[in-house]
Amino acid sequence: MNAPLQGHTVSKPIAAAQALLSVDNVSLEYRTPQRVVRATHQVSFEIDPADRFVLLGPSGCGKSTLLKAVAGFIQPVEGEIRLQGQRVDAPGPDRIVVFQEFDQLPPWKTVKQNVMFPLLASKTLKRKEAEERALHYLEKVGLAAFADAYPHTLSGGMKARVAIARALAMQPKILLMDEPFAALDALTRRKMQEELLLLWEEVRFTLLFVTHSIEEALVVGNRILLLSPHPGRVRAEVHSHQYDLHSLGGVAFQASARRIHRLLFDEGDVANASHELDFADIRIAY
Ligand code: ADP
Ligand code: MG
Repeated sequence: MNAPLQGHTVSKPIAAAQALLSVDNVSLEYRTPQRVVRATHQVSFEIDPADRFVLLGPSGCGKSTLLKAVAGFIQPVEGEIRLQGQRVDAPGPDRIVVFQEFDQLPPWKTVKQNVMFPLLASKTLKRKEAEERALHYLEKVGLAAFADAYPHTLSGGMKARVAIARALAMQPKILLMDEPFAALDALTRRKMQEELLLLWEEVRFTLLFVTHSIEEALVVGNRILLLSPHPGRVRAEVHSHQYDLHSLGGVAFQASARRIHRLLFDEGDVANASHELDFADIRIAY
């Protein structure tokens, strides 16, 4: 059983402000005519504004399903998801998802038109303002010079940046990213992680980021929720704000990666593993 993890740090005041997003004891299931698949079991976490919150766990532990539930595409069978206190029960422009498949950018639209499209389709802005907003975010991701290019002329990394600009242009309350860099080659992937962090420094958006890579979680996240294999349950939550790309390969970074690996995979030994943890404020769920 997972105890709900409430509050983020030991030092956080008890009367803390309401979380931006709260996922409270959420179980998610898929029902097919043959059977019911439980994807996550009683998962709880909270995300504050400007968090870079990472869901980390092995393939099949329900990360994508959790993200879809936060996006409003799937309803929990147990528990509740709230955005600023409001129950999430449908998709909305306040939660934008960036998927891994950037090739979903409509090829007949230019980069700028791609970024403008959701703004126009959702009637968020009129054409002129949408164009200005699109150019603003294309500049932020370093693609202003490619505004009139077509997606097929772009590299994988550039398509990823268009997808991020398109999502940020909607100015969502929370940006949801599901393994956004998994299909990129290793060097481009690292570059995109770096650019995402630089962009965050500038825009300070709130991010919910899914990955199965421990290294990526440590680099991208300020907090990491560790999920057990199928069905996903919370194993622990760790703080990782001390790491960035410059930490890669460092002694402390590697030690943290090893400890996270133990927390994720050492069935039944979580309590012992936690004794050896150096994380300042790790919280373990049983
Ligand atoms: P992750 O993203 O962590 O790899 P998913 O959220 O995609 O995991 O899947 C969690 C579990 O739910 C897996 O066991 C998977 O097989 C199952 N699942 C995912 N999508 C469906 C679906 N559409 N129908 C039935 N089962 C599904
Ligand atoms: Mg997935």
